[in-house]
Amino acid sequence: MRDHFETRDWDAAGRIGELTVPRAGVTVETPALLPVINPHLRTVEPRQLEREFGAEILITNGYILYGSDDYRERALSEGLHDLYDFSGAIMTDSGSFQLAEYGEIDVDTEEILRFQHDIGSDIGTPVDIPTPPDVSREQAERDLAETEAALAAAEEVDVGEMLVNAPIQGSTHLDLREQAARHADATDLDVFPVGAVVPLLNDYRYDDMVDVVAASKRGLGADAPVHLFGAGHPMMFALAVAAGCDLFDSAAYALYARDDRYLTVRGTEHLADLDYFPCSCPVCTEHTPAEVAERGDAEREELLARHNLHVTYEELRRVKQAIRRGDLLELVEERARSHPAMADGYRALLDHADQLNETDPVRKDSFFHTSAESARRPEVRRHHERLDRLDVPDGAVLLTEGENNSRFDASWRVKPPFGPFPRSLSNTYPLTAQVPDRLSREAYEAAADGIARLVEANSETAFTVAHFDWPGSALARLPALDTIDLTEEEGPESQGGSPATEEDGR
Ligand SMILES: [Zn+2]
Repeated sequence: MRDHFETRDWDAAGRIGELTVPRAGVTVETPALLPVINPHLRTVEPRQLEREFGAEILITNGYILYGSDDYRERALSEGLHDLYDFSGAIMTDSGSFQLAEYGEIDVDTEEILRFQHDIGSDIGTPVDIPTPPDVSREQAERDLAETEAALAAAEEVDVGEMLVNAPIQGSTHLDLREQAARHADATDLDVFPVGAVVPLLNDYRYDDMVDVVAASKRGLGADAPVHLFGAGHPMMFALAVAAGCDLFDSAAYALYARDDRYLTVRGTEHLADLDYFPCSCPVCTEHTPAEVAERGDAEREELLARHNLHVTYEELRRVKQAIRRGDLLELVEERARSHPAMADGYRALLDHADQLNETDPVRKDSFFHTSAESARRPEVRRHHERLDRLDVPDGAVLLTEGENNSRFDASWRVKPPFGPFPRSLSNTYPLTAQVPDRLSREAYEAAADGIARLVEANSETAFTVAHFDWPGSALARLPALDTIDLTEEEGPESQGGSPATEEDGR
């Protein structure tokens, strides 16, 4: 049991947690953003991150400090917190990124961890091997063996109260990711970055990112704080949190600002393309895009960086509120509509509905059916599983979208996308779902799958299904049983003795 990470509220695989960072003497609420501070290019001062944005934690590169003539001695003598004038928690990276970029670095895990400890880092990192996506299995395995050796070396270093990252690699080989996570989880290290996902994010491969995170999560205990290393675009926070990520680091706010790029939760805009700022942060309420464009390079960069940070922190707060209220998946659906690649990411997330189901709360505030994908949410899956355990009444049972009918011994409701349920459950989550009148084919098909599951579990019961004009693709999924199309029963031509005439008092 890792006692430095406690989780409170859950939604899908997302959670609000508290990461206790003993060396800093602070507790960081997750999901959290770690702004990246480049010691040589401080676009926004750490002290300002704390004051203006409420930053509780940041990340800086220990390897750059280690190799810097300007900063190495100062970091050692003053300590990172004084050097940066920052009272929150500071995580340091090890140079693995430089190793991946340039092929070699002149330090090993033992030395760089000692250095990180000596400069007062609160969370240090060993020298893992960031294996890019799509490499051969042989390379991924070879690199992973080195990463696992680095974790073993890190366990041997006396770092006092400093927490230590245990990065998870394995490229896009999902079984290797899961194996790497299982190995990392078995160490006595503390925080679990999912590494080398930046190339996936840069290529908008959000579906592959979700698969990599889901595989890593399968190998980790629920008490493991998970960091999506190098991910800082607010557009994908809801998705990544729903997949189970707790920490993000953003260099994007500064890198994009340097390029005159403006972050939004729907993607990235170029300053030159904006006539209006779609944001109410202090930067955007006090300036127009034209005014910002006229400023000198340094000032323009700082203004854009501050906006980028505001929108990033705002989205994290929105994600946390969504977890608290239980509508994180509704937020993911909203974000999925903003870019086709995000839609792919959401669909990939729903491929893991069984995995999400393990932590998704049984009761939430509301289920809003807002897209065809809603039919694949874990709540639907969970309802179908519950159908195996429900007692079905004796005799002839009507499963209906309409009213009770006295010709049958009992009548259950049918509601797409969930399927059948006893009327006594009508007011329980998720069957209270708000569902549109114009449902997608997928919703009817999911309901039909629920009926099939109920029929299979109760093969001796005689079921009849009454529906309002379901599409053929849904009817084709039903087992052999009597069906009634209620739309044909209604209207002025309807004959007496219609099966759907009795009020049930709803
Ligand atoms: Zn703004």
